[in-house]
Amino acid sequence: MQNLFLYNSLSNKKERFEPVKEGYVGMYVCGPTVYSNVHLGNVRTFMSFDMIYRYFLHLGYKVRYVRNITDAGHLTDDSDEDKISKKARLEQLEPMEIVQRYTTDFHDILNKFNFLPPSIEPTATGHIVEQIEAIETILKNGLAYEVNGSVYFDVIKYNEKEHYGILSKRNIEDAIENTRNLEGQSDKKNPQDFALWKKAEPEHIQRWNSPWGSGFPGWHLECTVMSTKYLGEQFDIHGGGMDLKFPHHECEIAQAQACNHINPVKYWLHGNMLTMNGKKMSKSTGNNILPEEIFSGENDNISKAYSPSVARFFMMQAHYRSILDFSNDAILAAEKGYNRLLEAIELSKRLEASETSTLGVKAWSQKCYEAMNDDFNSPILIANLFEAVKWINLINDGKESLSSKDLELLTSTINTFVFDILGLENAQMQDDNSEKIDGLVHLLIEMRKKARDDRDWALSDKIRDELMDLGIQLKDGKDGTTYSLN
Ligand code: AMP
Ligand code: ZN
Repeated sequence: MQNLFLYNSLSNKKERFEPVKEGYVGMYVCGPTVYSNVHLGNVRTFMSFDMIYRYFLHLGYKVRYVRNITDAGHLTDDSDEDKISKKARLEQLEPMEIVQRYTTDFHDILNKFNFLPPSIEPTATGHIVEQIEAIETILKNGLAYEVNGSVYFDVIKYNEKEHYGILSKRNIEDAIENTRNLEGQSDKKNPQDFALWKKAEPEHIQRWNSPWGSGFPGWHLECTVMSTKYLGEQFDIHGGGMDLKFPHHECEIAQAQACNHINPVKYWLHGNMLTMNGKKMSKSTGNNILPEEIFSGENDNISKAYSPSVARFFMMQAHYRSILDFSNDAILAAEKGYNRLLEAIELSKRLEASETSTLGVKAWSQKCYEAMNDDFNSPILIANLFEAVKWINLINDGKESLSSKDLELLTSTINTFVFDILGLENAQMQDDNSEKIDGLVHLLIEMRKKARDDRDWALSDKIRDELMDLGIQLKDGKDGTTYSLN
């Protein structure tokens, strides 16, 4: 296995990756709260972990990647209402209609960006029983208390033996400052305590029966329950955006310790924010751009449409722990760079090998791995890929040469990093494929016409029906037969 180093937010240091179980990786990433469309900032965080997932797979680990869907319990800052119930009330819809709509949108967008699906995508509402059980355990262990149908985690009591603030490096006083406005706290013993279970007020739509009456789980609990259920009481990697470090991830650690008496996560990885005009992209402030707006060009911040791969390349050019500012100029520059890379990849297929090599391909390939092994440093990796772009052009001009073995190593390494690990796609290649499909369907249309002229109805129907099964619908008109892809 490679010597992989990753930056652990728990120690604030780069550490050598040593999995809990040799050859296996358990990774949990906090998923979206499905009450509105994901913006490009959300996509950035998920994309960083998609790239990390891809790299672990490439290295040969058996990875179980769990990314949840928050479909209940994410409290809004200033009230006792969670985000999904609030949206359902405003739109006069069932909460599950809201959840369905935005989960579908989330999947559609991630598919367009060529994400790999996680191994498990559990939902908060699918794990209410486990959340109630976890609360009972925490109560039994004396680290939570019930008041008036709600249950709160007792942070002061927990902090007597453990360290609340171990991840965010805050002390309890800071925590008090930062939690003052959260979760309508009238019932709490102390302001920094957080809700494990909330009593549902009469107008609250999403609710479940529990030993404490009708209510709903606090947001932090679902991730503790689902991560440990699927990955074990201690697992390798937990990820999310930096904005989740406190209180969400801090509370996750406390809950897991309170349940299982073990620090749940070996390596905490946090992605930095995508900004626009220097400010964090966010749903609530309106300072955001939606992926669909990028693909259509319909947003005042951009001058034209960009493909998903260009947007992906734009994001991969920054290290996942650095802030990245979105602007039209920046994504336009990424598009130029990406096209140059694709052209070189096409050109590399036509290069001819020589007897000997004048370039050190093996050392270069090693540098690509070193970049990724250094906390998934995709910008350095991309700089190395552009070194290869330069080489490909020089070889094509006859100024440098590669043996067939080195040429093979060069092209396979570029293809692996660009397509398998960075997850980029060749739009040009997709166009080629659609041309091929078009040619094939026209050929079949001609064959069907011939069958009909010969009164071979069985064959003509077979062609039509089997194309239909493939999602290709033939339409007969007076000017001949056309088709559409469903
Ligand atoms: P949410 O649906 O609000 O829970 O957010 C889903 C994920 O997107 C979380 O991991 C957040 O940290 C992340 N996120 C939110 N805003 C941004 C942003 N501007 N840049 C990068 N990640 C973000
Ligand atoms: Zn979470």
